[in-house]
Parts: sequence; structure tokens; C-alpha cells
Amino acid sequence: MTIGILGGGQLGYMLALAGYPLGLRFRFLDPSPEAPVGRIAQRVTADFDDQAALEKFASGLELITYEFENVPVAATRFLAERVPVFPSPAALEVAQDRLKEKSLFRKLGIATTEFAPIHNLKSLDAAVAAIGLPAVLKTSRFGYDGKGQWVLRTAADVDQLKSEVGGAFVKAPSVNGAHASRDSAPFILERFISFTRELSILAVRARNGDIVFYPLVQNRHHGGILRLSIAPAPSLAPALQREAEDIARGILTELDYAGVLAIEFFEYRGRLVANEMAPRVHNSGHWTIEGAVTSQFENHLRAVLDLPLGSTKVYGFAAMLNLIGETPESAEVLAIPGAHLHLYGKSPRPGRKLGHVTLWTSSFEQLSESLGALPPLFHQPSFCLDEPYVPLAMNNPASPKP
Ligand code: AMP
Repeated sequence: MTIGILGGGQLGYMLALAGYPLGLRFRFLDPSPEAPVGRIAQRVTADFDDQAALEKFASGLELITYEFENVPVAATRFLAERVPVFPSPAALEVAQDRLKEKSLFRKLGIATTEFAPIHNLKSLDAAVAAIGLPAVLKTSRFGYDGKGQWVLRTAADVDQLKSEVGGAFVKAPSVNGAHASRDSAPFILERFISFTRELSILAVRARNGDIVFYPLVQNRHHGGILRLSIAPAPSLAPALQREAEDIARGILTELDYAGVLAIEFFEYRGRLVANEMAPRVHNSGHWTIEGAVTSQFENHLRAVLDLPLGSTKVYGFAAMLNLIGETPESAEVLAIPGAHLHLYGKSPRPGRKLGHVTLWTSSFEQLSESLGALPPLFHQPSFCLDEPYVPLAMNNPASPKP
């Protein structure tokens, strides 16, 4: 049985590694001839809008899924006429557009940052007046790892942005060619939240409607890129986990979703504020390979194949550190008890995700010790290791409004 995967990066790589023990084969489609899955699976190198290549790619596949949410929705619709595609193109369409995503959160009563669609420079001024500063301007689509975002703290920042990126308002990709409706615009302005910490949940829904959840994970970003996840999130109140599960269940059911869905939150005044979601396996779930009974990758495959979902029970405590632009000496990492090294076979380039390290331990104290024992490379500020794991503000939920 061969599964097709759109996108051939590290997420696809780890999906394939999880699928081989289940007897599955994989065929990937990626525009880059360097896509790392080429080492371990059949790879078709073609653009996502090359219909002849899509047709050839789809031939003989059991189903198609994706590891990358910026795949054109039109390509998934074209493929879905030939082979089942999970999660559905409709779910992809919502998740790849911040305005549609936030409108869905609102519709389902899920707390999210205050936001406004930005169609042109005039609507930026009106939105800044309505939302106030500080605020964050984001491209509605095609943003990832903090790209396409501008933090606006003062009126001078707004003026500078207008002179720097004014042209982008003309050039920005339109959503289905429309700029005038409430849920489609090239940019979105969001209120900046002085959050206590960032959390994410991974939820899995099978084609038969069964749902399982992993525990909330605490994430640290640097320069907009995830650097460190701690699982389960330290000092996690059961009510917060329940709140995250209720939110995830609502979205999965509304979208009649199949597969893994990741939802990123800000913890603010003891409650969850939804930031965004990803319709795929997620970087903040890599720890599940060693830290949970069933990994997110295996559960995604089980979900889309309509197989029973695996237990999400967690063993102990885990930390996941992304290796970005450089990798440590393997022996130095592997000398630490409970450390696992994953290298994706990519050539090093600044800002590129080359691999990750997972540390697994049976207690939170031990986890802190293992993190402290990591080689000097990991103690650069970009790894976020030397910041307190439990934010001090958590003891002060009455902190002033941002
Ligand atoms: P995103 O691409 O939306 O995940 O944003 C990348 C990172 O920027 C987030 O993980 C946050 O650290 C930060 N960020 C994004 N939106 C906001 C916001 N509205 N308020 C505060 N920080 C934000």
C-alpha cells in the first residue's frame, strides 16, 4: 500500500519512518530536488501546480496527505478527484489563511487575539486606531517561522512599516483574487499579547471520528522559530488541558477532520488564547517519538488510514531542541543518558532546520539536569535553555494588561 505525501521535508521524512513498520510505502511530491525524503522514499520532483506531474504522482496511491500547509488548495482539490486526500482540502483552506482561521476560532467561541483584516494602507491606520499598539502585522498566508511579521510598538513603527513594505500591499498574493471581504485580505493586524508562555496541543481525529489528545507542551521561540519544547508543559493545570482539548475537539468536529492537528496558544492570565493551527504533524510534537506510547507520526498515519488510533500516554518528561543552521558532535549528545539525536540529512544553511535532539527522563528534576549537561553549543541564547522553564509571571496571574 503506497501513501502519497505532498512536501518532502523532515516532517514527511519522519512520517515515512513511522510508516515502514506498518508495512506502508511512500511516494513524495516536492518542487526541490534536494528534499530530504529522497534518501528514503520515492520522490517526484515537480511543482505543485504541474497537473501532469500531479496525475502521475497520484497513480496507484491508496491516499494522499501533506506535511506542508502551503500546498496550493487547488492542487489538493485536483488530487482529491482521483485519490482520497486527508486532511480535506477544505480544512487546508482554512488553516493556511490566518483570517479564515481566526474567523473560525471566533465562530466556535474560541478566545483569540483581537484582529482586523488589512486590505490597504488606509485600513492599516483604521485597524491600528481600533486595536491599539503594540500590535503585530502578519501576512495572511505563506508566513512560517515568524516570516512575514512586523511588531508595531509605536506610531513611528507604523510610519516606518508603511514606507518599507507599502509596495507589498500591492504585490501581496490575494485570496482567490478577492480583497474586499471580511475573511480575505493580504494582511492581518493582531493585538500583541504579553503572554505568560506559549503552549501547543496536538490532537488526532481518525476518519471514523475517534479523537485522542497529547498533553499541552510548552514552547520557546527565538527569532520566530521554535527552539525548545518541554512535554508535558511544566505546572500544567488540569483545567487548562481540558480547555485545550475542548477547543481542539470543536475544531476537529467542525472541519470533519482526519489526521493530526496542532493548535498553538498563548497562556494569558491563566487562560488559553488561540494563535494559530497547523493541519499536519508539528515540530512541537517531535518528542512523541520517544516520549509517548504512539508518536504523532504513527497516529497521523493511523488516522488517515482509518486504523485504530494509538495510545497517547506519555512516558516521563521530554524536551525537544531544534538544531538550526548547525549541528553538534553526535557523540557529545549521545553521551547524555536519555538523549536521542535526529538528523534530517539536509546540507547546513543558516536558519535551516537540520535536526533535533530529544531528551527523555523520568522526572522533571532529571530533565533540568540533562538539559544543563548539554554541550556548550546548546547554551547559546538562541536555544532558550537558560531562561526559567516555568515563567515567573505564572505566579502572578494578575499582571497588568499589556
Ligand atoms: P506565528 O507565526 O503566528 O506562530 O508567530 C510566531 C511567534 O511570534 C509566536 O510564536 C509568538 O512568539 C510571536 N507572536 C505572534 N503573534 C503574536 C501576538 N499577537 N502577540 C505576541 N506575540 C506574538
